Amino acid sequence: MPELPEVETVRSGLDPVLTGHVIVRADIRRPDLRWPLPMGMAERLTGKTVVALRRRSKYILADLSSGETLIIHLGMSGRMLISGTQIGQFHHDHPAPEKHDHVVLDTDHGARVTFNDARRFGAMDLCPTDAVETHWLLDRIGPEPLGNAFNEDYLVAALHGRNTPIKAALLDQRIVAGLGNIYVCETLHRARISPRRKAGRIAADRVRTLVPVIRKVLSEAIEAGGSSLRDYRQADGELGYFQHTFRAYGREGAPCPTADCTGTITRIVQSGRSTFFCPTCQR
Ligand SMILES: [Zn+2]
Repeated sequence: MPELPEVETVRSGLDPVLTGHVIVRADIRRPDLRWPLPMGMAERLTGKTVVALRRRSKYILADLSSGETLIIHLGMSGRMLISGTQIGQFHHDHPAPEKHDHVVLDTDHGARVTFNDARRFGAMDLCPTDAVETHWLLDRIGPEPLGNAFNEDYLVAALHGRNTPIKAALLDQRIVAGLGNIYVCETLHRARISPRRKAGRIAADRVRTLVPVIRKVLSEAIEAGGSSLRDYRQADGELGYFQHTFRAYGREGAPCPTADCTGTITRIVQSGRSTFFCPTCQR
């Protein structure tokens, strides 16, 4: 499932293709994804200029010249494919539509953006741009981890008195936006905090260390995604998925990479999901 860095990579890949361009044709190939697509979607997109392409949590927001915003969520398996334009050193001709190509947008410069989603957990909706923050998909999401509202004082207050494990607290989208299983595991490993520790029982000075670690983990992943936009992995015109090396995630049985630690990365299951951590240096 794409997490914040993957979504940011998709957004930055779509940005030069869509921003400032007119959608000349919108082919809506089925009535629903996870939820019904908005009424009159093709008409509401056609002839409109994309004036900005933003990200909020794991949502891509395309602000349109009509005063509406197209909200896009990739879900579990959603993919964005670009054709008819240059990505990095590759030029992609328009492929024939495939079975799971659900939304196809053509721009005035001949580019095509295809949303493909085999499992259909993705979502799209249209709403007034000035009402995006109160849209039901976005209204309970906490601060952006790379934004100013997410800071040390905020996180100490947000975790105060919480009886849930820190792993679950950082996955809670109301506390911080866009963090998923992979980057929470990586964050806790670097911060040397046990994923099992109760959030409200971690000393404030240790909680404070989480903020720069979260920012660094995400920034490095976004940087890796940006590199992937420029290299061979985008040869198929698909955006957003890239190889990234992790210290803990997916490394069960491997030696802990923390300097001077002789521990082994261990996998446990928390709330039905795998947690990878080092029981020796994460306390
Ligand atoms: Zn360790």
